[in-house]
Amino acid sequence: MNPRFRNVRRIGPVNVASYIDRGRNRHLAACTAPRCDFSAEYDSRAAAELAARTHRCSA
Ligand SMILES: [Zn+2]
Repeated sequence: MNPRFRNVRRIGPVNVASYIDRGRNRHLAACTAPRCDFSAEYDSRAAAELAARTHRCSA
């Protein structure tokens, strides 16, 4: 099932999005740099945005 992303926002090279997974709010931070594998899920939007802001891109 494809999650429906809401509130997609770009912070530097990282996209932050919120979606609902099995009735629960989840938040995803994913780097868009081609050679960077960073992506992580969080329970709170603030945590996802903080991770995006502090991400040190390895690409
Ligand atoms: Zn990165």
